[in-house]
Amino acid sequence: MLKTVTGIILKADDYGDSDKILTVFSKEDGKIPVLYKRAKILKKGGGAVSQLFAVSEYSCFVGKNFYIHNQSMLLKSFAELQKSLKKLAAASYMAQLINYAYENYQKDERAYMLLLYCLGKIEKGSEENLLGYVALFQMKLLAITGYSPMLDSCVVCGKDSALDSFDIAEGGVMCEECARVAQKYNHISETDRKTLLMLLNIVLKQEDLTNMDSNRALNLIELLHCCLTDKLEKQLSTYQFLITVL
Ligand SMILES: [Zn+2]
Repeated sequence: MLKTVTGIILKADDYGDSDKILTVFSKEDGKIPVLYKRAKILKKGGGAVSQLFAVSEYSCFVGKNFYIHNQSMLLKSFAELQKSLKKLAAASYMAQLINYAYENYQKDERAYMLLLYCLGKIEKGSEENLLGYVALFQMKLLAITGYSPMLDSCVVCGKDSALDSFDIAEGGVMCEECARVAQKYNHISETDRKTLLMLLNIVLKQEDLTNMDSNRALNLIELLHCCLTDKLEKQLSTYQFLITVL
């Protein structure tokens, strides 16, 4: 059966002497393994289509273990991401998050749109502004996968005041009293809590993250990363790279 899908490359692995296996996050079928025969030999077009983050329309034979590449048309290369180490690190981290958050053939069009949106913002924006988009991506991915942190009331007692502790395992804020009782006090400032709420609730394309303080954004990225790894139960090699270059 021949099938057409549109997707973005999360990962590209060599396979044998001349082939590649592309991990593609597609709009139609979710995450799919695509066997691209002779990808390493094909000069014309083959190179750009099998680059990380390239968005293409693929025509594939649906095999038992792979989709087998027949034809493809490059729609967007995100080539600018490869020219800045910071942008490349941010994009690699987001791609690995998606790769780990979804099983093969698990479809999620919202996550697909989110990834494309944030990669586009990071590609076009300045290196200083990419932090806000990494945090936005992390928060929206938590929400899409069903792990929105509770941010406007205590995860234990439901109270909505003195919410100045954050508990990763519980998935949200705790009031000071509950945090002290549980001996798990982990301070979060009111500004950070409000910023997290904004990231959770804001509609894409309406956000303006250009004024976000970079130290604050880094703290939030670390916190959200801990929330994600707690849920995904995986360590992300790309996170260390990201933190090193930021
Ligand atoms: Zn409480």
